[in-house]
Amino acid sequence: MTTETTTTTEATHASFSDFPVSAQTHKAVAEQGWDAPTEIQKLTIPALLEGEDVVGLAQTGSGKTAAFSIPLIEAMDKRARGIQALIIVPTRELASQAADELKSLSRHNPVKPVVLCGGTSIKPQINALRGRATKVAVGTPGRILDHLQRGTLQLGSIKYLVLDEADRMLDMGFAPDVGRILSHTPDSRQTALFSATMPKEIKGIVNRHMRSPRWVAVETKAPTVDTVEQIYYRVDGKEKTTALKALIDSEEKPLIIVFRRTKRGATNLHRQLERQGYRAGLLHGGKTQSQRTKALASFNDGRTRILVATNVAARGLDIPNVSHVINYDLPEDVDTYVHRIGRTARAGKHGIAVSLIGEAEVREFNQIKKKLPVEVREERLPKTSGGHSPRRNAA
Ligand code: AMP
Repeated sequence: MTTETTTTTEATHASFSDFPVSAQTHKAVAEQGWDAPTEIQKLTIPALLEGEDVVGLAQTGSGKTAAFSIPLIEAMDKRARGIQALIIVPTRELASQAADELKSLSRHNPVKPVVLCGGTSIKPQINALRGRATKVAVGTPGRILDHLQRGTLQLGSIKYLVLDEADRMLDMGFAPDVGRILSHTPDSRQTALFSATMPKEIKGIVNRHMRSPRWVAVETKAPTVDTVEQIYYRVDGKEKTTALKALIDSEEKPLIIVFRRTKRGATNLHRQLERQGYRAGLLHGGKTQSQRTKALASFNDGRTRILVATNVAARGLDIPNVSHVINYDLPEDVDTYVHRIGRTARAGKHGIAVSLIGEAEVREFNQIKKKLPVEVREERLPKTSGGHSPRRNAA
């Protein structure tokens, strides 16, 4: 992963074994197969282990989930029952990803994440909250608040609080909910806040709710320059689907996320692909939680190799081994472009980002290209053989 620190803080921990954590946590980290801590991990884990509050400026893909999870596991009193930590995230997908990572990292510890998100039945969550383990609640603001109001969740004795992707939570209008949740937590808690950007509203939250935090900034060099190959094709708008199919067919075993701007656009393209024999998943904000989970699970384990998605649905998704991100529609701006292409080349792997640029999109795309630190190469589309056999690649 290519990262660059923008603080003066010296990162002295070059290897995971340098961190003063328990043998159980060392073992779990070793089993993750990671070579070395990422930049954000080197800079935040020592401070968090010492009980300091931390504000981390970092994007998804930087390794921030493990950065707050490792010290969290260490801070838990393993003999105590009940909720001892809370992780607030903006979306359901992020909640389940954070819970999965926490589960892996605490596999040798009696710490159990409980996911509290909307879109699924509340009953099993209430039962999970009643269980006797040492628990960490991971959830989205609406459902956490719902549990607080029902009295099924008590946060009065939590030790550790994480606000993850704080800027997105604000963008999604969660600020009041987050404020209400925080009022249920004790002042003695340790707080970590992570955000990709630092608007002044976040500085306000930091000033109101955190104790002289350590500020750490790590910039994932936009957009993971070394690992994402960025190319574009000039395509007549009507020919985009044909071009997309040619790209899919030209790869042996691709794992592709295709982005569209709108739910309707995504639905139409998904239907077209399926009609023509390509197995594809569909992910957009209008889908129910169980539909989303199914689509993601099937893409995650490679049963469907194409996922048609909108920006909102796919932001923050962390699916390993995505080989291609295809911008079927041009992203709205350079930030969206960077977020989209960041879905491939996760954790240092190689990935390809392809933009299909219609005549009407050329000017807008030039604006985006100008703001990127790397060249986006124009290429010629692979030739279609005519009688392709999509199942070979797409099944
Ligand atoms: P995050 O920024 O938390 O979304 O993490 C991005 C991805 O990097 C996840 O798949 C993590 O499992 C992975 N990851 C976290 N820490 C490391 C590390 N030190 N080395 C390699 N991969 C890591």
